[in-house]
Amino acid sequence: MDVVDTIVAFRSRLDDARHHGRHVGLVPTMGYLHEGHVSHMRRSATENDLTAVTIFVNPLQFGANEDLASYPRDLGRDAKLCEGAGVDLIFAPPVEEMYPEPMLTTVSVDEVSQRMEGRARPTHFAGVATVVSKLFNIAGPCRAYFGEKDYQQLAVVRKLARDLSFPVEVIGGPTVRELDGLAMSSRNVYLTGDERAAAPVLHRALQAGVASILSGERSAAAVAELVAGIIAAEPLAELDYAEVVDADTLAPLDRLHTGQEVRLLAAAQLGRPRLLDNLGVRVR
Ligand code: AMP
Repeated sequence: MDVVDTIVAFRSRLDDARHHGRHVGLVPTMGYLHEGHVSHMRRSATENDLTAVTIFVNPLQFGANEDLASYPRDLGRDAKLCEGAGVDLIFAPPVEEMYPEPMLTTVSVDEVSQRMEGRARPTHFAGVATVVSKLFNIAGPCRAYFGEKDYQQLAVVRKLARDLSFPVEVIGGPTVRELDGLAMSSRNVYLTGDERAAAPVLHRALQAGVASILSGERSAAAVAELVAGIIAAEPLAELDYAEVVDADTLAPLDRLHTGQEVRLLAAAQLGRPRLLDNLGVRVR
């Protein structure tokens, strides 16, 4: 496995692989890797001939008061995890390599970016869409793996790839969880002991929402209130939102109907980190 930190080196390695008829899998990350990231790497390694992981803490997607400076980083540990997961190449550029001059170009995806995370973090998805566009242009034709853990981000990336005709097949993979249900996240290291014990409340609340739909609840608002109520009852958690939306468009729903693919999403501040989680269900 090689580690490169320049755009030229990364691009030429992937061009060369394709030139020899090899399929490329791309796993974009911000590093401080865990089993969630590893699940995408392993899948890519089985579905492609060359798997590349990018590790870049992208300043554009952090708000002014967010944790850019303190975001956890450990390239040595990440490299070992990648190697064990069948990764062939890591691209870990410094900020000056990705943004050598002030960026005057922004990619933004309307509608799907605007609610939920977009309301709490107004510049976040434009930062994500811009860096993902840049990574797709650098990497070239490939399959790119993203996590359902960040469901709204996945929807933004899918729309971006379609709208701008990137030669990239976007693939979403399921959320990897700790044994108690907490969705794995690099930011979970910020949780104190008490907060860590409280953190599975998001998953529990979403499960209760799914169960209510499966047992016949047809009002999206009632389901959202149920989920919100369970999270709000946890004293350490500060609820931001609980929503029940169309799984493809992320449009808000009113009445649910049989056969509909629905996604339940929630976010809460729990001490320092903001925790996100979501679950899908097909209405019976
Ligand atoms: P990040 O490094 O947090 O930007 O995440 C990089 C990629 O890994 C994104 O596509 C995330 O959605 C995905 N990811 C993060 N956490 C998980 C998880 N617990 N399970 C599956 N995928 C994840």
